[in-house]
Amino acid sequence: MKRVLITGAAGFLGSHLCDRFVAEGFYVIGMDNFITGDKKNINHLLENANFQFIEHDVTDFIEVANDLDYILHFASPASPIDYLKIPIQTLKVGSLGTHNLLGLAMAKKARILIASTSEVYGDPLVHPQSEDYYGNVNAIGPRGVYDEAKRFMESITMAYHRFHGLETRIVRIFNTYGPRMRLNDGRVVPAFMGQALRGEDLTVFGDGLQTRSFCYVDDQVEGIYRLLLSDYSYPVNIGNPHETTIKDFANEIIGLTGTSQKVVFKDLPVDDPMQRQPNIELASKLLKWEPKVNRAEGMKRTFEYFKGLTKEELYRSEH
Ligand code: NAD
Ligand code: UDP
Repeated sequence: MKRVLITGAAGFLGSHLCDRFVAEGFYVIGMDNFITGDKKNINHLLENANFQFIEHDVTDFIEVANDLDYILHFASPASPIDYLKIPIQTLKVGSLGTHNLLGLAMAKKARILIASTSEVYGDPLVHPQSEDYYGNVNAIGPRGVYDEAKRFMESITMAYHRFHGLETRIVRIFNTYGPRMRLNDGRVVPAFMGQALRGEDLTVFGDGLQTRSFCYVDDQVEGIYRLLLSDYSYPVNIGNPHETTIKDFANEIIGLTGTSQKVVFKDLPVDDPMQRQPNIELASKLLKWEPKVNRAEGMKRTFEYFKGLTKEELYRSEH
C-alpha cells in the first residue's frame, strides 16, 4: 500500500485530496495545525483504518514514523483576508514549511508535490497566463507575503530537484471552489453565497470588471492526481479557463440563489489582479486533463453545501 502525507489536510483542498487518495487505495497521513482549517472537514475520515491525522505546524521540524512514497504540501493560508491577517505565518509556511517538507521527502525518498498558485503571476500583463510567463508581482505590497512565499516555494523546490535529484512536482492552482470552503474566508464564492443565504447585499469590490476563472474542486483534484503520477517536474497550471467578470458572477449567484438582494460596490483591495485565466494547453497535452464540471453545475453543488450549514455557522463571525 502506497503512503502519502498531505499537509493542510483539514482545509478545503487538502480534505478533498485526502478523500481521493483514500478512495484510490492509499494510506493517507493528514497533517494540519487548524490555523485556517476545520476538523469538520476530516471528521468522516478519522475512523478509517487507512487514514491517520497528525496535528502539527509544518514550520516546526516534522517527524513521521511511517515510510512515505508521496508528499503533497498544501498547508498555507489561501484567501486574501487570511494571509493579510497572518502574514508572517503565510511567509513561514511557504518558506520554512516547504524547506522542512523537502527535507522530509529527501529522508523518506518520497516524491513531493507542492501547491503553488496563479498568484505567482501577480497582476498579469500577459493573458491568458501560461507557465512560461514570469509574472508581475509587487513583492512589498500586502499580497506580496503570499505571492513571494509561493515563488520562493517553487524556487527551493526546483533547487532540491536540480541539486539533490529529488522527485518534485509543482501545481499552479487557479481559483478553485466547492464544498468545504470556509464560509467566512473572504473568497468570492463563499462570500457571495453566505451573503445570499443571510439576505445581505452582495459586495463587489471595485467596478467588478476584474475577471477570474473558477475551477470546480473535483476537476482540480483530478488534475493534481494526474500531475503527481506524471514524470514532469516543471510547474503546470490547473484551472478552468472559462473566465467571467466578478460583476457578472455576482449576478449569476443572485440567479442561482434566488436572493432578492442587490449588488453593492466596495473598494478594490490593493494589488487585486485585473485579469486571470489559465492557459491549460500544457496540462491538456501532458496529463490528458481538462475540466469537466461547468460553472453552473459546480456552483449548484457548492450552494447545496452552504445551504446545509447550521444557522450558527451561517452567522458566526470570524473577522
Ligand atoms: P485552506 O485555508 O482551506 O486550507 C489550508 C490548510 O492549511 C488549513 O487547514 C490550515 O489550517 C493549514 N495550515 C496553514 N498553515 C499551516 C501550518 N503552518 N502547519 C500546518 N497546517 C497549516 O485553503 P485551500 O484553498 O484548501 O488551499 C490549500 C492550498 O492550495 C494552499 O497552499 C493554497 O495556497 C493553495 N491554493 C489554493 C487555491 C484555491 O483556489 N483554493 C488557489 C491557489 C493555491
Ligand atoms: N471579491 C469581491 N467581493 C467579495 C470578495 C471578493 O468582489 O466579497 C473579488 C476580489 O476583489 C477579486 C475576486 O473577487 O477580484 C476574487 O477574489 P478571491 O478572494 O476569491 O480570490 P483571488 O483574488 O485570490 O483570486
